[in-house]
Amino acid sequence: MEKTRPGRCALCCQTKELQLSHIVPHFVGRKLIKTSPGNIRSSNEPNRTIQDIFKQYMLCSDCEERFSAKETWFANHIFSPYIDKKEKAFSYDEKLTYFIVSVSWRTLHIDLEKFSQDPLFNKDSLMILFRAEQTMREYLLGKRTDLEAIQNHIFFLDYVQSAPSLDSSMNPNVVMHRTISSYSVCDGKTLFTVSNLMGILIVTFYSMDTSENWVNTKIELGNGLLKAENQHMTSVVGNEIQYWMEQGAAAQQNLSEKQRKKIEDKMRALGDDILKYPIIQDLFADFELEE
Ligand SMILES: [Zn+2]
Repeated sequence: MEKTRPGRCALCCQTKELQLSHIVPHFVGRKLIKTSPGNIRSSNEPNRTIQDIFKQYMLCSDCEERFSAKETWFANHIFSPYIDKKEKAFSYDEKLTYFIVSVSWRTLHIDLEKFSQDPLFNKDSLMILFRAEQTMREYLLGKRTDLEAIQNHIFFLDYVQSAPSLDSSMNPNVVMHRTISSYSVCDGKTLFTVSNLMGILIVTFYSMDTSENWVNTKIELGNGLLKAENQHMTSVVGNEIQYWMEQGAAAQQNLSEKQRKKIEDKMRALGDDILKYPIIQDLFADFELEE
């Protein structure tokens, strides 16, 4: 693919050279590759290994630049310390909200192209989403400082010790900690974009049903403290974890004999070195769940 392509920037709306933008920031994919004993695979096409996660011509270089300082801050202050199991409490400032909004906005912007072409899509929901996309775009451009009723939450997906509602044979720990995804969902009155960054669940709500209950997860505009403990949620977002597990299980089944053998050979070649990889901890945790 070419490095840039002329077009209209999704954020500043100027016609410029567009960069091949990552939808989920690049550092997440890099971390997954670095901590994987084998190649990373897309659950849609399990027989193909992917070099990089989803990219699209979307932003000009000035707008990419707007996002990059906040991405670096999030990678260094929250993502890496948490994934490397070094820290569980994080003080934050406005940069955290900006980062979350930048990720959710990119995803919502792309999803709205599909949603708006679907004649069966609920029109009221579509209006809420279009308005949210506009509000977030203005916020990201520095044209406003509030986000209206939009709420941002972070939920840390710790090890599952017991989960009667989850099918433990589907490797919930591996799936939660080794998945990268980002998409928007309309579930009744609850409209949101969810991104799973290897076990850090980032959720932006555009509207929320009264049955939603989130404890110790909300990110305030401005300063705050976020802890990866005593968090709870009763939410339709929980359905997505089940969905990722089902996708993971289907991908396993669709894996060809040739690819399966390739993976086994690679694991065997690693020998005891395999124990250094975090996925092994997840496999052990899932194994204990099954007992
Ligand atoms: Zn731009």
